[in-house]
Amino acid sequence: MVIAIDGFSSTGKSSLAKRLANEFHFLYVDTGAMYRMVALKVLKSNWLSVDGEVNEELLKQGLRSISIDFNSSCKGENRAMLDGEMVENDIRSMDVNSVVSRISSLSIVRKQLVKQQQNMSLGRDLVMDGRDIGTVVFPNADLKIFMKANDDIRAERRLKELRSNGNLEVSFDQVKNNLIQRDRDDQAREDSPLIQAEGARVIDNSRQSEDDVFQLVSSWVRKINNN
Ligand code: C5P
Repeated sequence: MVIAIDGFSSTGKSSLAKRLANEFHFLYVDTGAMYRMVALKVLKSNWLSVDGEVNEELLKQGLRSISIDFNSSCKGENRAMLDGEMVENDIRSMDVNSVVSRISSLSIVRKQLVKQQQNMSLGRDLVMDGRDIGTVVFPNADLKIFMKANDDIRAERRLKELRSNGNLEVSFDQVKNNLIQRDRDDQAREDSPLIQAEGARVIDNSRQSEDDVFQLVSSWVRKINNN
């Protein structure tokens, strides 16, 4: 069984996906973390030119040897591993936030990561969250969900996450503007834009508690499992 969760930034996709994975013993894959790892690699390796554009030739070469993985040994949590190094906190920084959508719009990046994501499903039940899971990665997913939430609630959620990672300087407005800009970029890109997949069930997370959403989606999963 494949559950595809797409939607706007910080709408609670990952929290829902993690709870579902725990409840039903599915593999959980955070595809945003995969794009963030590529963005971190670009920043670390200096593959950006002075005008902030990505040097696609260097990126193309680098993608041949990059290792993007998850370590699930820590208390059942998936930890992002870039080239064998744990980068879970680094990929959530504002520096990465500000370049990730530009990097995820590049077809050479998407092609490689989508292939890796599709391979992860072989012989496994899985819940995957991102922007193109129900449209491109698994268009035949058993259950497709599209999540939305009010801008202020989303910004609060991301700010809390950043603060808990020790990022104390960042302001509410910076976080909110970044979310809105990323959503715009993700919707406007040519390759795999963020859109609601056909057959997706829409959830507005600003109107329901995290618990209610989890209970609702769990009931859908049970229903599908019983059929
Ligand atoms: O989900 P998260 O906010 O961590 O994703 C970071 C960025 O990665 C998104 O803003 C988007 O640009 C990109 N992304 C994507 N396709 C996915 C998952 C994430 O383009 N499937």
